[in-house]
Amino acid sequence: MQLHTLEFVKRFTHLPKRFYQLKQPTPLRGQLALVAVSADAAQLIDLNLCEQDQQQLIDFLAGRWLPKNTQPLAMKYAGHQFGFYNPDLGDGRGLLLGEVRNKQGECWDLHLKGAGQTAWSRFADGRAVLRSSIREFLGSEALFHLGIPTTRALALVTSSEPVRRERIEAATTLLRLTASHIRFGHFEHLYYSNDLEGLKLLVNFVIEHHFPALKTSPDPAAALLAQVLERSALLVARWQAYGFCHGVLNTDNMSILGETFDFGPYAFLDTYQPSFVGNHSDDQGRYAFNRQPSIVHWNLICLGQALLPLSNEQAIRQVLDSFAASYDQHYRQTMAARLGVHPVNDWILVERFLNFCEATTCDWTRVLRALAEGELKEASALMQNKANQEPAGWQVWLEEWQECLAKLFSSQKAVIEALTQVNPCVLPRTHLLQQAIQQAEAGDFTEVNRLLAVFRHPFTRQGKQPEDMASAPSWAEEFTLSCSS
Ligand code: AMP
Ligand code: MG
Repeated sequence: MQLHTLEFVKRFTHLPKRFYQLKQPTPLRGQLALVAVSADAAQLIDLNLCEQDQQQLIDFLAGRWLPKNTQPLAMKYAGHQFGFYNPDLGDGRGLLLGEVRNKQGECWDLHLKGAGQTAWSRFADGRAVLRSSIREFLGSEALFHLGIPTTRALALVTSSEPVRRERIEAATTLLRLTASHIRFGHFEHLYYSNDLEGLKLLVNFVIEHHFPALKTSPDPAAALLAQVLERSALLVARWQAYGFCHGVLNTDNMSILGETFDFGPYAFLDTYQPSFVGNHSDDQGRYAFNRQPSIVHWNLICLGQALLPLSNEQAIRQVLDSFAASYDQHYRQTMAARLGVHPVNDWILVERFLNFCEATTCDWTRVLRALAEGELKEASALMQNKANQEPAGWQVWLEEWQECLAKLFSSQKAVIEALTQVNPCVLPRTHLLQQAIQQAEAGDFTEVNRLLAVFRHPFTRQGKQPEDMASAPSWAEEFTLSCSS
């Protein structure tokens, strides 16, 4: 299929007009360049890139051309930002261009980020820049292939239209795909504006399109909260087990589908430092890596509060109280799998391992990969601290870990096979992204496209450049990301 033959459906516009503003994209000005396209993401909507007219794709991404039957809109939502409620949020620089039904009958939102000003732009320009669009593009495609729930990204186009940030940058648009752009903040907006009817409509809408099994529930609001809680607990468990730090976990950046959403100043831990804060604008460390589980719980409490008028306190509280157990189960499962051990019986081994990582601030991703490949000497060398010392007790741990594996696996080959499937060689580390960004800003998109291909296969060493697997260079330690990232 090509863009103009896609089947566009209308779902969100069935909700009352106060939920959105109909708005056409503001076309990018000047010269355009297609930076990259994810063939995997295009497949989700049956878009055939070989058949697709390139110029039409570029014009579409630049907001200069729209297929028939599209009715672009900006969504209204609100949210808690850094702990404080802000009623004035909404799509300020993104538009839901349309909803596409694919051959399997699945519907995908096509959202253009950077599409110009809307009713909720609040004095800002409605644009996104090349740097942050590349980060979201590569980040979301990489997370998907790592097995971490996420929105997807189809393509990005940059332009010669200047936008002012800390410096002048190039206005860029990114086409994001997900089954739903509904955020916790959508519900909060309706709750805080006493729009009970709207709240009911939204709960029904989300259940109808995304959780149809809940249709017959006697308490749909609490049942929906339970589903969202379960998905969010799984999501944050995966983040913690792979070292992903979101950076801006405001409730308007929380997806009702439990996906990694609204990528900003995110980072993967290069060295194992649980109190890592990726976002330079977060001076209180509210969104530090190790606070993410409790922040996600806090955000779910905000959602529970917003759903309260449709349920009752006891039911909502009961759901919210299940977070810790749900998170713990998912985290143990994912983290224990990385070491190939039992999530309950052998958990102490995992804890001891993480304590070593914290004590030496090692590159834990590489240690885990070396362990997975059976390269114990390499793992020990990587586990050393800056003074080239192994932590006390490391060799004892290695022996006990191997004894444990010998009980659980039939052979060393089986261990390697299982562990290399869950321990990546490569991650979208900040320094890799930064190199691709620098080249792209100079007009060369080769590195963005090379990394896209590399991140499609994070668990295979084959064909990988050794530099992609290397630890962060020292300049990356000083490098900071802010909200405008
Ligand atoms: P974010 O930090 O991207 O999650 O955005 C927070 C809020 O600010 C959202 O409502 C955005 O739509 C809005 N926003 C962020 N950047 C811009 C911009 N350049 N122009 C207009 N609105 C923006
Ligand atoms: Mg946001």
